[in-house]
Amino acid sequence: MNVIVDEEKCIGCGRCEEICPAVFHVDEAIGKSEVIDPEACEFVGCCDAAEENCPVEAITLEE
Ligand code: SF4
Repeated sequence: MNVIVDEEKCIGCGRCEEICPAVFHVDEAIGKSEVIDPEACEFVGCCDAAEENCPVEAITLEE
């Protein structure tokens, strides 16, 4: 699975990191979420929830 965060859209709210910290981390310096381990989506089962709960629809999951 590939996981993409659109940095243009991301507002750095941190919700994705709260929901799925194995995959997402908000870089406080730039106020954007970055994908730290897209492969972990296969095991942790929280990437769909992170995508659904992003308030600005910045997260895309690709099979
Ligand atoms: S939930 Fe969306 S807007 Fe919030 S930090 Fe994550 S990617 Fe950015």
